[in-house]
Amino acid sequence: MIQLSNVSKTYQVGDRSIAALRNIDLTVNKGEIFGIIGHSGAGKSTLIRTINVLEQPTGGQVFVDGVEMTALNGRRLQQERSSIGMIFQHFNLLSSATVADNIAFPLRLAKQQPGAVERRVRELLQLVGLEEHGAKYPAQLSGGQKQRVGIARALATSPKVLLCDEATSALDPQTTNSILALLLDINRKLHITIVLITHEMHVIRSICDRVAVIDGGKIVELGPVTDVFLKP
Ligand code: ADP
Ligand code: ADP
Repeated sequence: MIQLSNVSKTYQVGDRSIAALRNIDLTVNKGEIFGIIGHSGAGKSTLIRTINVLEQPTGGQVFVDGVEMTALNGRRLQQERSSIGMIFQHFNLLSSATVADNIAFPLRLAKQQPGAVERRVRELLQLVGLEEHGAKYPAQLSGGQKQRVGIARALATSPKVLLCDEATSALDPQTTNSILALLLDINRKLHITIVLITHEMHVIRSICDRVAVIDGGKIVELGPVTDVFLKP
């Protein structure tokens, strides 16, 4: 479903080069929950952002569902990005819009008819367990509820892939577990491929099928979670 081929990313800061990713090869299978773990500065965020080309690699290619994302730009890139949902550590909700309007945002951007938008928003609110909260503003919600809105918005356009950028790092342990359970449910029910980055082993252990360990911009270990973390 996702293939990174020899992907590198070097940031230029003044006359300094920072190699954030070094020749990454990675395949994520359709339907799996794939985790990427590593210390702060290891390159996790850069890596996940190359998948939807929020970060353009300086070398290599990224394919999602057979489409070479790294070869696209402009409208075509925007179009393909709508098949990739993303959620964030700090939720990135519009504070001046209601929950329903936050979720409707990508649908309106895709020029869907008002009636269809309304139906889809109702469906999504139900999916994430926020039926009663559509008219509220983000500031009136708990962290877990905000992330549920983020998930509903990310799923609005029925993506094939969901990218999770430290999606539970701002949440307490109990709320983290409920969000992980929701992600697992979405993966199983909707057959959406999930890629998540985290610095927390617990997150990987609780829902991931396979894991890559990244360090210094390189994948240093990769395999089923049980193999990678139960080795002597
Ligand atoms: P992680 O998500 O694992 O913490 P990042 O992908 O954010 O790692 O960062 C990897 C490396 O790239 C770090 O050395 C970081 O300082 C550097 N880096 C990340 N983003 C930028 C940027 N926009 N400009 C310059 N350097 C960056
Ligand atoms: P910039 O102002 O640097 O051009 P963008 O408008 O591309 O930034 O993105 C603003 C924020 O929205 C970014 O932090 C990015 O994480 C997020 N974002 C942009 N495009 C997408 C997308 N297609 N999917 C998910 N998040 C996105």
